[in-house]
Amino acid sequence: MIWKLEAKDNKARAGVLSLRNNTILTPIFMPVGTQACVKGLDFNDLEQIKTKLILANTYHLYLRPNDSVIKKLGGLHKFSGFNGSFLTDSGGFQAFSLNGKPNENGIAFKSHIDGSSHFFTPQMVLDIQYNLNSDIMMILDDLVALPNTKERILESIKRTSQWAKQSIIHHHNNKDSNPHNNIFAIIQGGTDKWAREISANELINMNYCDSEFDGFAIGGLAVGEEKNIMYDTIELTTDFMPQHKPRYLMGVGTPEDLVEGIYRGVDMFDCVMPTRNARNGTIFTQFGRLSIKNARFKEDSTPIDDKCGCYTCKNFSKAYLNHLFKANEILYARLSSIHNLYYYLELTRNAREAILQGRFENWRKEFYLKINARF
Ligand SMILES: [Zn+2]
Repeated sequence: MIWKLEAKDNKARAGVLSLRNNTILTPIFMPVGTQACVKGLDFNDLEQIKTKLILANTYHLYLRPNDSVIKKLGGLHKFSGFNGSFLTDSGGFQAFSLNGKPNENGIAFKSHIDGSSHFFTPQMVLDIQYNLNSDIMMILDDLVALPNTKERILESIKRTSQWAKQSIIHHHNNKDSNPHNNIFAIIQGGTDKWAREISANELINMNYCDSEFDGFAIGGLAVGEEKNIMYDTIELTTDFMPQHKPRYLMGVGTPEDLVEGIYRGVDMFDCVMPTRNARNGTIFTQFGRLSIKNARFKEDSTPIDDKCGCYTCKNFSKAYLNHLFKANEILYARLSSIHNLYYYLELTRNAREAILQGRFENWRKEFYLKINARF
């Protein structure tokens, strides 16, 4: 994997991420495809929204159908038919949110499907991700709910670093047989500068026999802290991160969060919001959010956004989408997800253009002017 910084506009960055057979322009939003599938969309739809990198979930795919099955069927790309790239998370977040029990060796958790007991170690989550043939693998980390005690935050960064060391050794030993599987470490530390600094420095300076991490993520945010504290934490963390490697902000993603993250030097994002909100009736547009179930759209023959280039806006009216939503038709989920994801991808593409042209500050101002105009 090669990531090249192409341009900087203050802290905002435009880059090029080269993965096997695929080039990703950053900043980038990655649609969430938990089960090796972005809900309701197939790979043709993903091509339509011009996405080349999606996120799949190690925890879910390990439990079902199991990574050994996916390996047998040729890895995630062959299994799903998606010829773009996959980033897979480590399962640490699911273990955290499903009441997993971390100890120094890993995380114990119970399957949400049948209640069976499992244990993830740092080495094991990489083995699962080798089987999935993921393009970017996240290592196991220990994240904490916020706010939390200083002791627990210290324990989290210490454990995250220990697991990172084990991960880098394991990856070094398996690198030759898995040359296209890249590895990202996750910076923890709650919202405290001192803790983020320790975590970032330990991970960034970590190497084993010349092997180092290919990129770095900011983890443990959007877990209960206030928005402005989250933005401050992103900013102070990116200040510790190296210029020559990609930066991924995990699981944070309103359109405003993307703009603020890019402004603070983040390159990669993921979030369930565009697809989940689409299914619930919330549509994102350059003029803010709209609720498609609103009665005023019942006879509205115009598209969601006549400037939007997505398949949905080119072919369907708000009235039709309003009807599909009310009639509980599956097609609604697909069409609304296509639009919301296209909007998110277009947002990062426009941000990138603005950075390349050195007008990101103005672009950011215009973004807020339009968003606040509302319908
Ligand atoms: Zn659209």
